[in-house]
Amino acid sequence: MTNHLFSEIRNCMPDLARPFLETADGAVLSYGDVIETSGRYANALVALGVQPGDRVAVQVEKTPDALMLYLATVRAGGIFLPLNTAYTPAEIDYFVTDAEPKVFVCDPSRQAALAPTAGKVGASLQTLDASGKGSLRDLADGASGDFADVARGKDDLAAILYTSGTTGRSKGAMLSHENLASNARTLVDYWRFTSDDVLLHALPIFHTHGLFVATNCLLMAGGSMLFLPKFDLDTVLKLLPRASSMMGVPTFYTRLLGSEAFTKDLVAHMRLFISGSAPLSAETHKEFSARTGHAILERYGMTETNMNTSNPYDGDRRPGTVGYPLPGVELRVTEPETGKVLAQGDVGIIEVRGPNVFQGYWRMPEKTAEELRADGFFITGDMGRVDADGYVSIVGRSKDLIITGGFNVYPAEVEALLDEIEGVAESAVIGVPHPDFGEGVVAVVAPKAGAKLDTTSVAAALKDKLAKFKQPKQVHVVDTLPRNTMGKIQKNVLRDQFKGDFA
Ligand code: ATP
Ligand code: MG
Repeated sequence: MTNHLFSEIRNCMPDLARPFLETADGAVLSYGDVIETSGRYANALVALGVQPGDRVAVQVEKTPDALMLYLATVRAGGIFLPLNTAYTPAEIDYFVTDAEPKVFVCDPSRQAALAPTAGKVGASLQTLDASGKGSLRDLADGASGDFADVARGKDDLAAILYTSGTTGRSKGAMLSHENLASNARTLVDYWRFTSDDVLLHALPIFHTHGLFVATNCLLMAGGSMLFLPKFDLDTVLKLLPRASSMMGVPTFYTRLLGSEAFTKDLVAHMRLFISGSAPLSAETHKEFSARTGHAILERYGMTETNMNTSNPYDGDRRPGTVGYPLPGVELRVTEPETGKVLAQGDVGIIEVRGPNVFQGYWRMPEKTAEELRADGFFITGDMGRVDADGYVSIVGRSKDLIITGGFNVYPAEVEALLDEIEGVAESAVIGVPHPDFGEGVVAVVAPKAGAKLDTTSVAAALKDKLAKFKQPKQVHVVDTLPRNTMGKIQKNVLRDQFKGDFA
């Protein structure tokens, strides 16, 4: 048996002299370097006692070394477990205690604070800093680059990724070698990635978007990446002329549009812009097309499933939709209360099944049983519908559904209309307790730079467009909407902030 995921990555590699990654300061890692460096790290991990199935937990800045550590863990038969760099040592204590890793790699600045946590679970605590230096790097530097990949099958775990925690406490999604390999294979094909592609990579690598969608795709295409520590507008504008493709969260695109330097000429050569992780407003999609001539390709996925749907490469990329189920992914829409499969066009919970769907939540058998059906369908918690042409639209999370006076209000429908109002940059529609209606609809809007919004005219603009029960009973204007590191609007924060609106 081979190492299922890494052998596939290896088989897809181009000439080993070709570049895989280039950093903002011009350092280049070739495919040959990828094999050599990940081999060194794999030897270091084994020397630290990592055996097949052991977790390697990692909370470090985004560097090429951190990415090599991912591949090294897979090659050593371990389970890669990246953690959001924003988490505090107290939060990390929960994750690391839960995951019981054999090795825990952190930033040197946090070594002292995290030592008790590592000690509690008997993990070897190692460091790696923002320049890729640290105790683990020292071990890797002293190790051989030759490494015999540990045999792992399709169903063995390659990673545990914690969900973004948008709706509650993050859950550890167990992802197998084939979950990752099958999705990358599909995406390379669907999005036509080739060894000529240069992806501008400005996403974090502790999340499925930057780690698996972007990195695995480019590895399996044999292409290369311009690898930035984070999204910095000036750097992105400077490097776009050298890229052929970019993957981003919607805020990347709104920030680009906010710059006058982002012109049609600057990106005329680009092949593809992809958006995901949060809804891309139809407004942003249209503004982007008008400015650049490029239709952003929006896709939909999640930590538990990798990618599920995508707008087409050829053909209509429809604003406000997430496109078709990907090849090999079955998608159905069911009634929340009964689980009954609904007819085309009806709004319900989106369920998906396919080789991309995870193996369950780490040490949460009850949660797994609640969300993963016996027939293999995963209940995503997102509500949506499929239109007559097969395009899927997301109307919001089931936890964000508003029930007012017994009627359902899907936030996305109201948000789309709010976003069309002159001067509105972004919006969020939430339900908060209401003495008569159970919940009352509240709109929170943020103005575009330089624009002034007043709550009465915002409310008035919706009057003829929506049934009365869907119209916001209260409108708030704020500078910006609260978002987490993946650019997701934190509706729970807003619900808390405005819970007294009708009290
Ligand atoms: P948690 O599960 O911990 O509450 P989370 O669901 O935000 O957090 P992720 O797995 O990072 O964690 O995000 C997946 C979710 O992101 C999806 O379930 C969906 O709600 C949202 N999402 C992703 N892509 C899109 C998209 N294109 N349009 C709308 N929503 C999207
Ligand atoms: Mg989720």
